Amino acid sequence: ATMPPLLSAIANAGRHGVLVKSAVVMERLGQVDAVALDKTGTLTEGTPRVTDIRPLPGAGLTEDALLALAAAAERPSEHPLARAITAAARERRLRPAAATDFGSVPGSGVTATVGGHVIEAGAPARLLDGSPHCAAAALAAEVAGALESGGRTAVLVRRDGVPVGVLGLADRLRPGAAAAVTALRALTGTAPVLLTGDNPRAAGRLAAEIGITDVRAGLLPQDKVAAVREQEAAGRRVLVVGDGVNDAPALAAAHTGVAMGRAGSDLALETADAVVVRDELAAVPAVIALSRAARRLVV
Ligand code: ADP
Ligand code: MG
Repeated sequence: ATMPPLLSAIANAGRHGVLVKSAVVMERLGQVDAVALDKTGTLTEGTPRVTDIRPLPGAGLTEDALLALAAAAERPSEHPLARAITAAARERRLRPAAATDFGSVPGSGVTATVGGHVIEAGAPARLLDGSPHCAAAALAAEVAGALESGGRTAVLVRRDGVPVGVLGLADRLRPGAAAAVTALRALTGTAPVLLTGDNPRAAGRLAAEIGITDVRAGLLPQDKVAAVREQEAAGRRVLVVGDGVNDAPALAAAHTGVAMGRAGSDLALETADAVVVRDELAAVPAVIALSRAARRLVV
């Protein structure tokens, strides 16, 4: 028997490195007319590196001590920034202290108890919001702002509520990101939007490089959902592409959700309708085109 068009399309998608979970999904992929892209791990490779280690004067920490403290708190997190911080500590042959009481807030940061102190590491905008207005907080904001203006993602470290240092991290754009944005715009007739939990400065710089003008930064997971719902309320069928735990609610809310598979979180892979197994962004417009071609054969 010849294979039904949607099933052949699923097989073809597989050749492009995309796992499409059902024939219904294969069909829906061709119906999308708007695209929302996550930044970290989706448009970027998701393997950032620590580029700056800035203990705040007054905290009494060396660079190594600051990095070790952050690594101790980040160890259980599967976030790309957490992996970068623990890798940097390993490279410097540091031995992060044992930590307990781990907690994480998707899109925001982590917390743990290390050596009797509560250590938090996360987005400066969120942590400084909850900091008392002290000299350390003002200085931390300044250091983080300077790093972010340079295109870095800043991670603020607090000890017992007091900022003690800032780390700067940089990630590489995925090859093919700009081409994928162009292809998605052509296929859907609308400009893709960037939805990110990262800071507006780093997000804006990256967006400009790949031709995205609509940037929503500093978003929590539920804000990404709201951005998707807003477009869907305007009658659009939105394709969300993401990789993180923080993207899962938006992947679920979207008309169609696609996860980046290689470094993607389990939750994103389970929630998404399709998975880009080899992490090539070009595969996303490719499967939309495959879906449309298959639908022409079905109808
Ligand atoms: P994106 O939407 O670009 O994938 P996330 O929502 O995962 O980014 O993260 C948003 C921001 O929250 C990060 O830029 C960082 O500032 C902070 N953050 C999230 N998880 C962590 C973590 N484990 N350690 C430090 N910062 C974190
Ligand atoms: Mg991400």
